[in-house]
Amino acid sequence: MQITFWGTRGSIAAPLSAKGVRDKIVDAVMAAAQAPEGAALAGRDKAEAFVDAMPFSQKGTFGGNTSCVEVETDQPDHFLICDLGTGVRELGLSALGRLGGRSGTFDVLLSHLHWDHIMGFPFFVPAYIPGHVIRIHGCHDQLEAALKAQQSAPCFPVPFGVLGATIEFHVLTPDQTTEIGGVSVTPSLQHHGNDSYGYRLERAGTCVVYSTDSEHGIEDEEDLHRFAKFFQGADLVIFDAMYSLADAATVKQDWGHSSNVMGVDLCHRAGVKRLALFHHEPVHGDGKLQVLLEQTLRYEALAREGDALEVIASYDGLVVTV
Ligand SMILES: [Zn+2]
Ligand SMILES: [Zn+2]
Repeated sequence: MQITFWGTRGSIAAPLSAKGVRDKIVDAVMAAAQAPEGAALAGRDKAEAFVDAMPFSQKGTFGGNTSCVEVETDQPDHFLICDLGTGVRELGLSALGRLGGRSGTFDVLLSHLHWDHIMGFPFFVPAYIPGHVIRIHGCHDQLEAALKAQQSAPCFPVPFGVLGATIEFHVLTPDQTTEIGGVSVTPSLQHHGNDSYGYRLERAGTCVVYSTDSEHGIEDEEDLHRFAKFFQGADLVIFDAMYSLADAATVKQDWGHSSNVMGVDLCHRAGVKRLALFHHEPVHGDGKLQVLLEQTLRYEALAREGDALEVIASYDGLVVTV
């Protein structure tokens, strides 16, 4: 099962600035100047190898699009999408390219209706083209109302009613498993302002859990037990690691998000194979996100009692196979 991260930022889009790009180029030039003579300059192949060996935060960027993750299914011309953050704009263009003129079916699972999780939909090009089918699933009763409100005057010039695709809304029941596009989908309530829902996705013995915008109480044993069960044995958990533990437990307590440390603890407890840090704090630059990943890797090694948990920091464009 292939997972593609189209948007990994939390709360608001946070694109890299011109200064951010310049800083990376300056770092690269300085590193090249210190490299063995000619290493960076003797042809494109060597230059590329030199750049590839640089830390991710210097050679790339975690990206700025808000939450959107694509989960591969085994059905032709079918797309399963978690959340409609700004990342869904690029997903839509990619999907049209892959469809090559055929009509597609898009099943969307919405964690909740906060802006950062729906704001990409007005720019999702397949919605404007007759023949495509878009089914929007979620556990909030206001699913349809929220998407229509977002796309109404004076906030947006193109009303929802003129969209050419067939668009349906399906309200799901928490803790009940539904088959969607050949994938078993089980939603679970999460602690977050106006509620959010995580999704456990299972197909052919493979399990991915999408759990964003979810706060966990460090000493709330009932909550921890419930989520360990929800994550149990997953191949990949995509986890709201917006804050550091210190922030999550102090100034940002009750803000509805979680930490890298909580992600490791829950995944250890649940026997998860891989943890993807997700919903990155928009204030954090690439350097800070890299440091948070390194701290998380050290914590995982220290806290580990059983099998190793692989920890990655998701970024816009990352493709993971589970
Ligand atoms: Zn969010
Ligand atoms: Zn939210």
